[in-house]
Amino acid sequence: QPAAVHDAALPNHDGRVDWARVRADFPLLMREVHGKPLVYFDNANTGQKPLPVIASQDEFYRRQNANVSRAVHALGTEATEAYEGARGKLARFLNVRADELVLCSGTTFALNLVAYSWALPRLKAGDAILVSRMEHHANIVPWQLVAERTGATIKVAEILPDGSLDLDALYRAMTPEVKLLAVTHVSNVLGTVNPVREICREARRRGIVTVVDGSQAAPHLKLDVPAIGCDFYAITGHKMCGPTGTGALWARREHLQAMPPFIGGGEMIREVSFEGTVFNDPPHKFEAGTPNIAGFIGLGAAVDYLESLGMERVAAREAELLAHATEALQAIPGLRIFGTAPGKAAVISFLVEGAHAHDLATLLDLEGIAVRSGQHCAHPLLQYFGVAATLRASLAFYNTHEEIDRFAAALEKTRRLLV
Ligand code: PLP
Repeated sequence: QPAAVHDAALPNHDGRVDWARVRADFPLLMREVHGKPLVYFDNANTGQKPLPVIASQDEFYRRQNANVSRAVHALGTEATEAYEGARGKLARFLNVRADELVLCSGTTFALNLVAYSWALPRLKAGDAILVSRMEHHANIVPWQLVAERTGATIKVAEILPDGSLDLDALYRAMTPEVKLLAVTHVSNVLGTVNPVREICREARRRGIVTVVDGSQAAPHLKLDVPAIGCDFYAITGHKMCGPTGTGALWARREHLQAMPPFIGGGEMIREVSFEGTVFNDPPHKFEAGTPNIAGFIGLGAAVDYLESLGMERVAAREAELLAHATEALQAIPGLRIFGTAPGKAAVISFLVEGAHAHDLATLLDLEGIAVRSGQHCAHPLLQYFGVAATLRASLAFYNTHEEIDRFAAALEKTRRLLV
């Protein structure tokens, strides 16, 4: 029986969450790796899924599976209601209108949708797209592809050594030829939380359209997208307790109406003839083909789950874990942390002097500890720091203080082996 909201997730009477009970909602966290209890610190890569999310998809396939927006039979109606219900939940979570939310496979698709439907028809030689140094490749490469095809150029806004954006330089870079600014809300490598509200206000004053990559913000912060004042906001479901292959693009209504469809096919049309095709209204105009119905129902359950915890409580819990982990890592000789901006999210990129990141990650894996090593889909950012790779420990609310102690002890043991 799928629980709409799992009891264990509900806060206690004093407003506190029983985090040990919350953790018990995540079956994967109970497993062992190489004979050791798993410590999963790769949450910025993808998050684990609580029981209600797993159960909701199982239930859909057992009882409701049908295509959406096509059939009048009962199952078709139920599936459509469940799918549109998930859109409504996600819209409430972001504080936006459901008809301004395009459901898609994730941030990568969402950003490409903006690139191909908004930017490609509008930009021309002489225009510029401004991106920050700390972007994920998903918020760089689509703009490069557009630049190649339009003759526009890419401008880069630099960062400061603590991993925060150099805001003065950013505002100076907002020159008249800049038509679009693409910036991440939270860095997947440094954890930096960018002041996107202020940045979007400055861009808007200069007539620059803004795209905010919210992939790493949605799992950790309470969001109010209209308050940010951007034009586009992209999220991905699998980092916020939802299934892979789910995500969304929020866009201002006027953009959605003006943009041509990106992918053509069924569902996105109102009428098709060989003389011409009439497209459906947004957001359906951008949702061609059969969507990941079960996945979005799972994402709706993930939103219910996160809301039952309360995003403010999630953020506070993760800040506590981050403080502990930072202190524990700083005690390790030769360890350097990349990204120390105040108010950062619970992502710690680091290197240990004399040890290669991949070797450390491989040895940590043997201790049951999952961290990521490499360039984190952010080559230009690592180039800024002059390093080929880092290790990254990224925490979620279901991680524990004991796991942090185990991680720090295993890292010190591993360091002694290698250095
Ligand atoms: N942007 C950021 C900041 C990310 O961390 C990620 C995922 O790692 C993405 C974009 C791409 O998300 P997805 O692969 O889910 O489309």
